[in-house]
Amino acid sequence: MPDNLELPVAVIGAGPGGLAAAAHLLERGLTPVIFEAGDTPAAAVKAWGHIRLFSPWRYNTDAAARRLLDGTGWQEPDPEALPTGTELLEQYLLPLAAAPAIANALRTSHRVIAVTRAGMDKTRSHRREETPFLVRVLDGTGAITDHHVRAVIDASGTWNTPNPLGQAGLPAPGEAEATAAGFITAPLPDVTGRDRARFAGKHVLVVGAGHSAANTLLALGDLDAQEPGTRISWAIRGSSASSIYGGGDLDGLPARGDLGTRLRALVEAGSIELHTSFTITGFKSADTLAVLGATPDGEAQLDVDLLIPSTGFRPDLDMLRELRLDLDPAVEAPRELGPLIDPEFHSCGTVEPHGAKLLSHPEQDFYITGMKSYGRAPTFLMATGYEQVRSIAAALAGDRTAADNVELVLPETGVCSTDLGGSCDTPATTATGTDEGSCCAAPEPAFLGIPTGLAHGRSVEQEN
Ligand SMILES: Cc1cc2nc3c(=O)[nH]c(=O)nc-3n(C[C@H](O)[C@H](O)[C@H](O)COP(=O)(O)OP(=O)(O)OC[C@H]3O[C@@H](n4cnc5c(N)ncnc54)[C@H](O)[C@@H]3O)c2cc1C
Repeated sequence: MPDNLELPVAVIGAGPGGLAAAAHLLERGLTPVIFEAGDTPAAAVKAWGHIRLFSPWRYNTDAAARRLLDGTGWQEPDPEALPTGTELLEQYLLPLAAAPAIANALRTSHRVIAVTRAGMDKTRSHRREETPFLVRVLDGTGAITDHHVRAVIDASGTWNTPNPLGQAGLPAPGEAEATAAGFITAPLPDVTGRDRARFAGKHVLVVGAGHSAANTLLALGDLDAQEPGTRISWAIRGSSASSIYGGGDLDGLPARGDLGTRLRALVEAGSIELHTSFTITGFKSADTLAVLGATPDGEAQLDVDLLIPSTGFRPDLDMLRELRLDLDPAVEAPRELGPLIDPEFHSCGTVEPHGAKLLSHPEQDFYITGMKSYGRAPTFLMATGYEQVRSIAAALAGDRTAADNVELVLPETGVCSTDLGGSCDTPATTATGTDEGSCCAAPEPAFLGIPTGLAHGRSVEQEN
């Protein structure tokens, strides 16, 4: 077994968080090895590339990454512009991944399937902290290899693990078969662009009452206007969609009010068939998909060609089964972070600046960072993640002072533009929820869900 300190640090995922982690590790003289499941860096951002971000460029790039890119002829984008996911990828993440120091460390088409300690399961304690981690990886050829590393930063996001569609957090009977048969799509498909042919002229059901559902429904409305024969249904578990419609003209945030007004108009015109109080109880896959539901009037059935899930995401904890984690029991974020971001209690992010200390687990030198660090709460911001990984890299390099001196520099008003804002995640020291210009100024009702760049929001997408 090699000396622990000579081993590399594994970074799981080459999204914004993982690539920034690698840049900070390199600055600290540590050696990253980055495993990315997709065949390109930032495969998750690529999947939602058609969505415009709500935070401008100035909050979307990491300081160590910028320093690394500065030597490569990289042109920093206009700090005030709002990029799409594709622009974020092409103008920042791909150049960063191609910088020689990162490119040498990056393994695309390498999916981490398990993390443990070499030669030890979860129950073994003797000299555990000195024992290297074992990271088991499945590559694009189907080969499985084990890698020994001195520390692990899990920045694998939540994009690949959407919440199931059935009730009580469980998949409904037939859900796996319906997904395998292609009836249930990935979240946030590009229905008017890349994926247009798949949806044109089809009966499409959107499930969920959050921000993503609203944006997907409006995009389907545009498709319907151009492709007659397209039929749109929308199922929500609640008894009314009024909270999603927002305050219309009276809404404190015009973009959100406009979004809700447009959605309501489509429903009232009959372009979208809304099914309220609809709890999915099962699926039957045949030529079309039968979606079975329980409603106050008894059992119901919707026959559709495609279903777009908009019910939020959850972290994949299966691959971490052999590690000693300390997670908030509700949100599945690191225990101390959970109460700060629990969407059931926080209409507006009041996240204290945090780094390695708050993100640590009983498993020494293991960290969950980025989107995955927020567990089931969807209000995460890249800027928060960049500070997380700066602090984690400092901790791994033994610089406790820098690790503990958390330097989150989000503005009082949050990081969203007042026109297209989508998140309320601001530091606790500044977020008052009363500033009229702030993302947090929105009166009830507010949109719930992962921000998709078109409206203001807070978040419980799983509440569909
Ligand atoms: C539609 C949308 C819009 C958003 N808009 C904004 C915004 O405007 N501003 C903002 O600050 N935040 C925004 N966010 C939130 C968040 O900042 C982004 O999701 C961001 O991409 C999170 O970065 P990440 O690196 O933590 O995770 P991801 O970007 O999800 O990256 C994780 C990476 O890990 C890889 N991976 C997954 N599992 C494995 C595995 N087992 N092994 C190896 N690799 C794996 C994935 O392929 C992926 O490339 C938005 C999110 C969404 C979904």
